[in-house]
Amino acid sequence: MDKLNLKPGVLTGTAVKELFAYCKEGGCALPAVNVIGSNSANAAMAAARIARAPIIIQLSHTGSQFFAGKTLDNGREQASIAGSVAGAHHVRTLAGVYGVPVVLHTDHCAKKLLPWLDGVIEADEVYYRQHGEPLFSTHMVDLSEQPLAENIEIAARYLARIAKMGMTLELEIGITGGEEDGVDNRGVAHERLYTNPADVLKVYDALSPLGNFNLAAAFGNTHGVYAPGNVKLRPTILRDSQRFVEERRKTRPKPVSLVFHGGSGSPQADIAEAVSYGVVKFNIDTDTQWAFTHPIKTFMDEKGAYLLTEVGNPEGADRPNKKYFDPRGWLHIGEQGVTVRLLAAYDDLGSRDRFVF
Ligand SMILES: [Zn+2]
Repeated sequence: MDKLNLKPGVLTGTAVKELFAYCKEGGCALPAVNVIGSNSANAAMAAARIARAPIIIQLSHTGSQFFAGKTLDNGREQASIAGSVAGAHHVRTLAGVYGVPVVLHTDHCAKKLLPWLDGVIEADEVYYRQHGEPLFSTHMVDLSEQPLAENIEIAARYLARIAKMGMTLELEIGITGGEEDGVDNRGVAHERLYTNPADVLKVYDALSPLGNFNLAAAFGNTHGVYAPGNVKLRPTILRDSQRFVEERRKTRPKPVSLVFHGGSGSPQADIAEAVSYGVVKFNIDTDTQWAFTHPIKTFMDEKGAYLLTEVGNPEGADRPNKKYFDPRGWLHIGEQGVTVRLLAAYDDLGSRDRFVF
């Protein structure tokens, strides 16, 4: 299989569709990292540059709000909308400078948060009229807590709207367990964490005629990282779902592009197996949060005696500590931690050195 040719910068339209199709056929997937500001966004693009692979950069509802600044009122989702737009412009400005292709995505979006996504899609539409492409590459709606019929109906409405700009929609069926971004699914009934292949067929039938979609079909995935044994992934649900659609609709193998939520802390074997069944996007958040914070803690512990006063440390009462407390120093340690963790994800997902750009 020839390497896929891509242009650096934010990918939109058919380039996104071709990228996911290539990953599915080639048996690799891309990390999708939640970013909350310039530090995490830049660390993600730095990882893509080293891995010679595209990166999926995604903004959640609260990640967008944080990007805008936590002091802003968000009563009408204005901070989350503006934060998403600001994050997108940040990435658009720098992706070419890093020389990497980026898929820009918004994460989740439960029913009550749809006004946030509506505002972001309005910004896509304005950008589309000016530039012939949307601001973002792809969006997600997450109606997994609603009945399946309502989930599909709302997803179809959003896909019809963004398909006019060539955009791909991600949706979720079954439920991702655990807790993330203010959504707590730790108490959800066990069987709801596992998708039924017949439901995948319903999604396929409803959405295929409308445009491109990626499906987060739950197979025991959980947001967050928990003690070993608490999470039981069953990737064979993905294989069975693909076969069910293939047999019923006489499609090519692996007709659905799948998304792996709650990738943090997952065993390598489960990741590889899920990718072999058509997972093209692997969400990682908890592990990159840890990768950012932990090396900063180590730094703070090791340099603790240099961080107590602006002047004065074990080398002398008049010695300045500026080079230790300048936030650029320790924030960059966090950025490097994220980059290193994402490089390990690329290795797990088999997507290094598969692209030319
Ligand atoms: Zn998720």
